[in-house]
Amino acid sequence: MNLVIFGPPGAGKGTQSNFIVKNYNLYQLSTGELLRNEIKNKTKLGIEIFSIMNSGNLVSDEIVSDLIEKFISNDTYKDRLIFDGYPRNKSQAENLNYLLKKYNQKIDLVLKLSVSLDSIKKRISGRSVCSICGKIYNEYFNPAPINAECCASKFLQKRSDDTLEIGVKRYQTYEKNIAPVIDFYKQSNLLKVVNGETSISDINSEIGALIEVVKGWL
Ligand code: ADP
Repeated sequence: MNLVIFGPPGAGKGTQSNFIVKNYNLYQLSTGELLRNEIKNKTKLGIEIFSIMNSGNLVSDEIVSDLIEKFISNDTYKDRLIFDGYPRNKSQAENLNYLLKKYNQKIDLVLKLSVSLDSIKKRISGRSVCSICGKIYNEYFNPAPINAECCASKFLQKRSDDTLEIGVKRYQTYEKNIAPVIDFYKQSNLLKVVNGETSISDINSEIGALIEVVKGWL
């Protein structure tokens, strides 16, 4: 099974993808994470995209397409990918279908997490990630455990684009590009909208139930 999960920045895609990975043995392909790794490793590509990402805009479709094709073409990940952060516009949605077809695969489920701009602002400004295990926390809703060994405060890092200002810009970029993606997946009957404002475990359960239905068809 291949799935797409999308929603505004801070909607909880990463948190929910972690849950799906653990329970369904899928692999989370986060384009944002792949791009951040390029920046961290100071590659030629990383240097090229640094200012684009920190302005809240999208990097070019070609760059992201090359990155994801490496995974789609790799048999280790065949039919077990969660696309997190891709597609973000209509041409990426069409490209994803093209690439999957090229490697004899398809999308089986598309999850849209809906969250309001007000919640997004809090989620983004409160978010940090454990640099050791990758677990995502939020100082308002889901703080890291005190005295934890792995996720101690010294290991928690904030993304450089998780400021209120860049967060709002990322939200606007999302809103500007996503409507045709929603239509695209509605037309193919793959889209399921999940309320991203309820508790993490309630959203886990809702997504789990949707995945079980699709599994029954495969
Ligand atoms: P979020 O969705 O919370 O903004 P991501 O980690 O998914 O965070 O993405 C961070 C940044 O990486 C985006 O603002 C954008 O600049 C870049 N990016 C990620 N995925 C794509 C994509 N599919 N196409 C273009 N740019 C992307």
